[in-house]
Amino acid sequence: MKISHLPSLFLVFFLPSYLSAQNPLELDWAELRKTKPWVATEQWEPVPKRVTPGQLGAPPADAIVLFDGNSMSSWHTPKLDYGARMDNVMAIVQEKLANPSFSEPLWEVKDGALIVNPGSGAIETKQSFGDCQLHIEWLSPVDPGKEGQGYSNSGIFFMGMYEIQVLNSYENETYPNGQAGSLYKQHIPLVNASRPPGEWQSYDIVFNAPKFDDTGSLLQPATVTAFHNGVLIQNDVDLKGPCVFIGEPHYIAHPPKLPLLLQDHGNKDRFRNIWIREL
Ligand code: MG
Repeated sequence: MKISHLPSLFLVFFLPSYLSAQNPLELDWAELRKTKPWVATEQWEPVPKRVTPGQLGAPPADAIVLFDGNSMSSWHTPKLDYGARMDNVMAIVQEKLANPSFSEPLWEVKDGALIVNPGSGAIETKQSFGDCQLHIEWLSPVDPGKEGQGYSNSGIFFMGMYEIQVLNSYENETYPNGQAGSLYKQHIPLVNASRPPGEWQSYDIVFNAPKFDDTGSLLQPATVTAFHNGVLIQNDVDLKGPCVFIGEPHYIAHPPKLPLLLQDHGNKDRFRNIWIREL
């Protein structure tokens, strides 16, 4: 471009703003106060409901406390837990809905923690949940000699089928879409925010249940946002269906609310301070 063209460019692009009533570099606040144009974009309704936050480490006032360090009264053990392959998932979900069957959970409550009792089976909330915010703290026991998926494996299964992995992933190699904070075999966590075994860790998770129409067709996939020890690890990701061990997932229609399940994968993981808010 020739230098000689610059003055005419100035006239075309910049002169009009200099001639306009307001210079955008210097708003005329005295003039603006007469009409208060900012009011038009103020949204005053709805007023968010007031919620008293808990002390650090304690649930907020409107949370449903699922484990307070003492009682397993919110939980039971289902006769059938979860499916490993899609046909298995479907059969189990249908059977659990048709013939619900439960027993008292045999997990241990000790030192304010809920401890997996290997071989006793998963535990499930008595209450069902759909869209929710979950806070849960967990600890991988120090377990020398264990490795990979065998080192402190458990899992948090929203609706009994959408799993965020619980595993010792501090200097313990495994497939990344199966490490702590993964949405099992679907989404690798953005970062590895794991603490070492023996230290308490936290998950804060926003889960949106999948939505189905009356014919069972999928309207919206399940989505998950999750923080591990306060660090964002899943940013509004879509799930492809239940988190299965074998094969590719796809959706099956199910009720809008189902229980939350904690996995017994044979390791003595600990959980505490579990609370949930329905959204
Ligand atoms: Mg697991």
